[in-house]
Amino acid sequence: MRSHTQTQLPGSSAVHGTPPVLVGRGLIKTYDTQRALDGVNIEIGAGDAVAIVGPSGSGKSTLLHVLAGILPSDAGEVLLAGRRIDQLGEGPRSELRRTQFGFVFQSGMLVAELTAQENAALPLLLGGASRSSAMAAALEWLDKLGLAGKEKRLPGQLSGGEAQRVAIARALAHRPSVIFADEPTGALDTRTGAETMRALLDAAAETNAAVVVVTHDTDIAESMPRTVSMRDGRVQL
Ligand code: ADP
Repeated sequence: MRSHTQTQLPGSSAVHGTPPVLVGRGLIKTYDTQRALDGVNIEIGAGDAVAIVGPSGSGKSTLLHVLAGILPSDAGEVLLAGRRIDQLGEGPRSELRRTQFGFVFQSGMLVAELTAQENAALPLLLGGASRSSAMAAALEWLDKLGLAGKEKRLPGQLSGGEAQRVAIARALAHRPSVIFADEPTGALDTRTGAETMRALLDAAAETNAAVVVVTHDTDIAESMPRTVSMRDGRVQL
C-alpha cells in the first residue's frame, strides 16, 4: 500500500509498484524553431489509462508520436518494458509498432475496400498469422465490441461510431501492450464518443493493454482514471 503522504508527480505511473510499461524521459523535440516537447517525463503503467490533455499546440500529438516510435525525438529516451526503443532502426521500430502497439486515429483510417472483419484482421495478417486464425480473432473482437452481424460490411456501410469500434478491434486483435489513440472521438457526437471511449477502455482492460489517449474533450478526459496536462511542450505539475 502506498502511504497517503507519498506524493506522485503527474507524469508518473501510479499502480502499486507495478513497473511502468512505457517511459519517456527528458524528451525534447523541435520542429524548425518551434519547440514541441521541452523536456517531458512520463510513465505509463501496465494497464494504465491516461488522457493527455492541453491546449492546441501544446505538444500532445508530438508526445504520442514520439512515445509510439513514429517520430524520433531530438533528445531523451523512450523505454518499453525497461528496454530503450528510441535508438532502434526503422525495421525493428516498425516491427515493434506492429506487435506491441495498437493505434486508433480520429477517423478510423479503415481500408475502404476491405470488410470490417478484414480490417480488424489486418495487423495480424501483416504479422504473419494465418488468414483463418486472424479472421477468427478479428471476429471475436468485433463481437465483443458489439458488431456481431456487421463483420461483412465495408467501412462505408458503417456509422462513425461503428467504424471506430472496428478500428478498436483492429488495434487490439494482436494483443498489444499499449494502445495509442489520437482524438479517437473527435469525429463523433458526444454520446457516441463517450460510448466508444468506454468500449475502448473495457476492451483494453480485458488484455491489460495500457491506453494513452490524446483528447481535448474534457468529458472524455474526466472519464479516464488519469490525466496528464501539457502546456508549451511540458507536463504541467
Ligand atoms: P497538439 O497535439 O497539442 O495540438 P502538436 O504536438 O501537434 O500539439 O504541436 C506542438 C507544436 O509543434 C505546435 O506549435 C505545432 O505548430 C508544432 N508542430 C507540430 N507538428 C509540426 C510539423 N510537422 N512541423 C512544424 N511544426 C510542427
